[in-house]
Amino acid sequence: MKDESMQSGLLRATLFAATQHREQRRKGSGATPYVNHVVDVATLLATVAKVEDLAILQAALLHDTVEDTATTFEQIEELFGSDVRFLVEEMTDDKTLPKAERKRLQVEHAPEMSSRGKLIKIADKISNIRDIIHRPPPDWSLERRRAYVEWGEAVVAGCRGVSEKLEQLFDQIVDEAKEVLERRP
Ligand code: ZN
Repeated sequence: MKDESMQSGLLRATLFAATQHREQRRKGSGATPYVNHVVDVATLLATVAKVEDLAILQAALLHDTVEDTATTFEQIEELFGSDVRFLVEEMTDDKTLPKAERKRLQVEHAPEMSSRGKLIKIADKISNIRDIIHRPPPDWSLERRRAYVEWGEAVVAGCRGVSEKLEQLFDQIVDEAKEVLERRP
């Protein structure tokens, strides 16, 4: 793994994520394959934040595998190393806790995350909020969508100072979201 090329590292992580998430679809309308979301997050980091750090991009691709599939942290470490494992751990909520508590903890823990973890977190929230504007889950009320955007803002408030470009894009997406959500009664 030590001298692995960027290409090989990214493809391995993409394949692993696609395999682990193979049964899952996004909640939004259109039910896109779940893996599209993690590729979106990694793409935002590479294209907007200009991240060239393989561990960050791999962790972006893998950030939901432990939370949402049978993948373990040990497996991540074995296949992708301890840096990636650490970042995936930072992105993983404790699913034994009730949802409201998990959401509260994300806000509380954001400022304590590593700079690399904060980058992934901001890109994750951009991807999710963009999906909620353009492909809202059919059963989500306007109120629920608004609350999601507000929560995303609270989490990202604790992550700022890591990438001006990414943070600008986040603000732009939030403005767009608010416009869309206000327009539709
Ligand atoms: Zn995610």
